[in-house]
Amino acid sequence: MSVWGDIMQFRLKDLLAKDQTVIVNEQLDVSKLFSNRQDVIKTGPLHINLTLTPVGEEVEVKGNLEIDMELACSRCLEPTHTHSIIPFAEQFRPASSEEISEDEDEEENDVVLITDDRLDLTPYVEEYVQLFMPFAPLCKEDCEGLCPQCGSNRNEQSCQCSNERIDPRLEALKDFFKE
Ligand SMILES: [Zn+2]
Ligand SMILES: [Zn+2]
Repeated sequence: MSVWGDIMQFRLKDLLAKDQTVIVNEQLDVSKLFSNRQDVIKTGPLHINLTLTPVGEEVEVKGNLEIDMELACSRCLEPTHTHSIIPFAEQFRPASSEEISEDEDEEENDVVLITDDRLDLTPYVEEYVQLFMPFAPLCKEDCEGLCPQCGSNRNEQSCQCSNERIDPRLEALKDFFKE
């Protein structure tokens, strides 16, 4: 399901017939894409800069996606600003009637076959943005994280908690050697 309506939809045959480059320059709200991710605090608009170029029987879509986001640091949970520039490149081609029935085309798996003339870039753009999201964002490389005992942010203050934490696995071994 698309969150962007039909801004990102094109008729492949029209693109190929006109034989000229189409430029997509849009700013779109993608906050809904991440509504189920608690580590995403804020998403700026997604800047979409793509060119759709007919090349022979194919349409090449190239360019980049750009987005500012605030993500929770995976160690200390503080908001962390990220700026991402995501390179985008895909090729699309109308599927011939044989290909529709065969539905497998090993030779050209770089090119996406479009069966109903409707090229919707939305799922591709969404996929690129989601794949590019940092898995474990950090506010800084050496973030100290939260104290597991009192929960205070160890980047900001050193707490009074004992640092002699014993790994529970080692604890078990200690008992083992006593016997
Ligand atoms: Zn952090
Ligand atoms: Zn502590």
